[in-house]
Amino acid sequence: MGTRIGIAGIDGRMGRVLAEEAVAAGATLVGGIDRTGKGPQGAALFADIAALAAACDVVVDFTHASSVAGHAAAIAAAGTGWVLGTTGLSAEQEAAVTAASASAPVAYAPNFSPGVTLLMALAERMAAALPPEQYDAEIVEMHHRQKVDAPSGTAIGLGQAVARGRGQDFASVREAGREGHTGARRAGAIGFAALRGGQVVGEHTLLFASGDEHIALTHRAFDRRAFASGAIRAALWLKGRPPGLYTMRDVLGLV
Ligand code: NAD
Repeated sequence: MGTRIGIAGIDGRMGRVLAEEAVAAGATLVGGIDRTGKGPQGAALFADIAALAAACDVVVDFTHASSVAGHAAAIAAAGTGWVLGTTGLSAEQEAAVTAASASAPVAYAPNFSPGVTLLMALAERMAAALPPEQYDAEIVEMHHRQKVDAPSGTAIGLGQAVARGRGQDFASVREAGREGHTGARRAGAIGFAALRGGQVVGEHTLLFASGDEHIALTHRAFDRRAFASGAIRAALWLKGRPPGLYTMRDVLGLV
């Protein structure tokens, strides 16, 4: 029997594509849970996350940040693998994910597309080579009008990669949502701008701007399958791993 996969948020935009990709990858789609009480035709619906976790090897979870603490506790109790793609987590919710990874293998990434994972690795290397006093780092992202968190988890992940490359503390250089009389740009800051509109699946540009030149890295996702196939790949990789907190870089062997 292939890896038994359950999907939390199976009625969502990502959940429906994840269900298709699990089957396409040869895994066993056990079923899922959703607040709507619905899911794709033929998929079994479970009462709650604990019941789902007990029935499968890996839960792939693309829901909402408010679900994360409860899901983390259920996953830790069951010791089931957890591929977590939900974004917009608070520091407290991130701590719950880390705590769960002491008792279960957890793969957590703001973006499961292999292309974006590679982009983040490149961003870190470029940032290390381009001095912050000369090269201003700015991140622009655009997403569909239904997206509830901003800046996107991927944009934050790119910012964290830049800060890591430069040996900076991300929280103290992050500059999101400029408005009004902001004063001149702080040297070493990492700026963010979030656009929302239409049905854009996900676009991110990281720009390094000096007085003499601009260098831009851009990723455009045209289809949610870019994230879903990567998340299922992570689920297959996660089965049987020891408890721990893994990223998509681990899955792709980029570490
Ligand atoms: P969506 O709103 O279409 O789907 C979320 C689904 O989860 C909904 O059907 C909702 O009813 C359900 N849900 C919410 N809380 C639940 C709970 N406690 N129990 C059961 N079901 C619950 O959203 P979406 O576009 O599919 O995105 C979902 C999440 O995934 C967002 O946080 C988004 O930012 C993130 N995302 C991550 C990646 C990645 O690669 N990591 C890619 C795309 C989207």
